[in-house]
Amino acid sequence: MDNNVTIVMYHYVRDLINSRYPEIKGLDLNYFRQQIEFFSSKYTIISMEQFIDNMENKTKLPPNSMMLTFDDGFIDHYTNVFPILSQNKISGSFYVPAEVLSCDKVLDVHKIHYILASTSTKTIMKDLFSLLNFYRGKEFEFDSNESIYSKLALIGRFDDKDTIFIKRLLQVELPEKLRGILVNELFKKYIAIDEESFSKELYISYDQIKLMKKCGMHFGIHGYRHYWLEKLHLNEAKTDIRKSLDFYSDIIDSKSWTISYPYGSRNEELVEFVKSANCKVGLTTEVRIANLSKDCMLNLPRLDTNDFPPKSNNYLNHY
Ligand SMILES: [Zn+2]
Repeated sequence: MDNNVTIVMYHYVRDLINSRYPEIKGLDLNYFRQQIEFFSSKYTIISMEQFIDNMENKTKLPPNSMMLTFDDGFIDHYTNVFPILSQNKISGSFYVPAEVLSCDKVLDVHKIHYILASTSTKTIMKDLFSLLNFYRGKEFEFDSNESIYSKLALIGRFDDKDTIFIKRLLQVELPEKLRGILVNELFKKYIAIDEESFSKELYISYDQIKLMKKCGMHFGIHGYRHYWLEKLHLNEAKTDIRKSLDFYSDIIDSKSWTISYPYGSRNEELVEFVKSANCKVGLTTEVRIANLSKDCMLNLPRLDTNDFPPKSNNYLNHY
């Protein structure tokens, strides 16, 4: 047991009911408080620095070690998470795609979350199918609506199959340029706020990151543009990571850094590359408790916040 570490993954953490998009798939702030209480009674929450130090010096981890990780750079992490972690003297690890800090854009992956939070999947699918019919054969080639649907619509851990279909179609399946066009059309139709203002409200700022870092929080790489890295040519994936490291040169030590692979996406060559570039820890989206006698430090699994009380007891299935 002592060679295990439970790593928990978070995204949105907010007062959902009183937020502008209560349907967004996030953790309610009250549940976050309860979860931290639960973790504090059951686990020893360690910092990323302590974890790396233990691993490098081959010293034993405390019993029931746990680490908390927060992906995507939402303002929630500064406004809601940071004060609660600070009060409880807990260090969290935060993974912010560099692009959200360097320009006033909203990443497509987040536009898709807000589109899904704004209307029913039925309505979105109707719009998408007619957009696909419109663009098919013009500049882009892709299969019929029926065959794309049957390929992509699989039930997920926390999503129904229509939601998975919409996410997969717009995140990875279609040609990149067309994905951008469709996401923007739907974003304009359902969100109807200009992207720049929306981006300013959605993401953390560089100054906020600096303050959190000063107060003992850890920051790592989450890609420059939040790409599925295994879908890129290796050289493009390397460039994306090098650009992220350059961007964060004030915050992240290029001699000892960590990565959360966007979507958990990576391949062996990429893992070799990050290792050779002094990456010490790689976080994936594989759902398990990490066993450090077996798991490679650059491919560590994580559980989701929804796997723990008060949301569920799924975590018990992993012991
Ligand atoms: Zn992400």
